[in-house]
Amino acid sequence: MNANSLIAAMKELVGNANVVDTPSDMEPHLIDWRKRHSGKAACIVFPGTTAQVSAVLAFCNDNAVKVFPQGGNTSVCGGSVPDSSGASVLLNMRKMNRIIELNPRNNSMTVEAGCVLADIQAAALEVDRLFPLTLGAEGSCQIGGNIATNAGGTNVLRFGNTRDLILGVEVVLADGRIWNGLRSLRKNNSGYDLKNLFIGSEGTLGVVTAATLKLFPRPHAIATAMLGVETVSAAVDEGLKLQAAFPGELVGLELISQSEFDISLRHAANTRNPFQHTPNWTVLVELAAATGTSESLADRLTEALNDSFSNGAVQDAVIASNEQQRGELWRIRHHVTEANGREGMGLTHDIAVPTYRIPDFVERAGRALAEHYPTAVPVIVGHMGDGNLHYIAMFTHEYWASVEDKAAVQLKLSHLLYDISAEMGGTFSAEHGIGSLHVAEMEMYKDAAEVALMREFKQLLDPRNTMNPGRVLPNAAVAD
Ligand SMILES: Cc1cc2nc3c(=O)[nH]c(=O)nc-3n(C[C@H](O)[C@H](O)[C@H](O)COP(=O)(O)OP(=O)(O)OC[C@H]3O[C@@H](n4cnc5c(N)ncnc54)[C@H](O)[C@@H]3O)c2cc1C
Repeated sequence: MNANSLIAAMKELVGNANVVDTPSDMEPHLIDWRKRHSGKAACIVFPGTTAQVSAVLAFCNDNAVKVFPQGGNTSVCGGSVPDSSGASVLLNMRKMNRIIELNPRNNSMTVEAGCVLADIQAAALEVDRLFPLTLGAEGSCQIGGNIATNAGGTNVLRFGNTRDLILGVEVVLADGRIWNGLRSLRKNNSGYDLKNLFIGSEGTLGVVTAATLKLFPRPHAIATAMLGVETVSAAVDEGLKLQAAFPGELVGLELISQSEFDISLRHAANTRNPFQHTPNWTVLVELAAATGTSESLADRLTEALNDSFSNGAVQDAVIASNEQQRGELWRIRHHVTEANGREGMGLTHDIAVPTYRIPDFVERAGRALAEHYPTAVPVIVGHMGDGNLHYIAMFTHEYWASVEDKAAVQLKLSHLLYDISAEMGGTFSAEHGIGSLHVAEMEMYKDAAEVALMREFKQLLDPRNTMNPGRVLPNAAVAD
């Protein structure tokens, strides 16, 4: 189908005001947040209702037009921009941003997929509830994107991934059929749990148009601390100790290497070093409790840390004494992605290993990097409590500009690290998803039967391969 006919059909289906086709208007949506992946589209469609999404998908399916769903465009693995054909539809969900129902008596909330995560968190707080999904991109990413990527973030240790926070979803399938699974039940064993097929499917099986979310009591006491430790082993041990000391209250346990800490201080606005000297490793700890006061929780944390101070396991510690200080500590953590972008060319790896293998991984990865890429600086930040590290090989912009075959370097370096992770029973993609960046690794690191089964699901739900083709599965089959 030629572009003009496609654009005319889209305008017919959703209205002129909801279709954009001029290059300058499309441009911001065609490049990703980190400016590393770009694509082309015939037009961008902004549906306002589930019925419009359904009409668009049915039309595209009938006419073999590819559809690329887009949320807040914060994907860090090339998942949120279209391919280079220029003949596709980019389906941007931002106009579907209504809160459909907020029900504190059921601890649930039903929202459209285009709601920005920070707005959902704020709406929950207004009724004295917590929606605990939190990540650095929360001011831009949408709940539909979070569901599509099964996003993680900094509260997974206590509340789980996005998957654990979803009670029901509404999905439009590739052929336009609507499945309304917006249930708000905690228990429902009536057949296969289809919602979990769509959570984490990155828009390859259908478009999430709405979701029912779990809410939790709003914590009234919060204690946040940064601990300075000498080694990664000491960090992991301290984490285990805190997990045992604060069951149900330890919500966040983040690890930051000295290199990452310094980069964040150098480039992120309004940050200051809470330590006199940046430690080798920093552990960011957060406790939250529904009752009590922040002061008493901080006192309990101080008491628990006393032992570790006396035996030298923890060398330095800063405990936030008010909300502003808490914000300052988190700022250093939350702004690493943009700070890294300013520092140089960071090749990021989103690996996870069993938590107790983190020190081993860091040690072996460091040796491999020093041997094969001595100019790269290891920069490490991650959700230590989940065994999830963002392991970044940081090159200077000047050095990277001089590398001739960038793709080859990236591939070889990544596979060095993924091999180490795989040998430890780990994964090459812990929370960011596959996007277009990690498609090749699916066949290299996953079980062949598992990938074959995924292809069968894809074939069943999207036989014409119009939904986000080229993402997640390598060369998804096309019927007819
Ligand atoms: C500063 C920063 C910090 C980050 N921190 C974290 C973190 O801690 N943990 C983490 O997991 N991720 C993190 N990310 C990655 C990213 O924010 C998440 O993957 C997020 O869930 C993506 O949401 P989005 O709305 O931006 O989706 P997009 O980036 O627009 O899209 C992501 C994928 O979802 C699909 N998609 C989007 N909306 C829908 C929909 N309604 N239906 C079907 N498919 C859809 C897209 O096609 C694409 O494949 C971070 C990113 C940045 C920039």
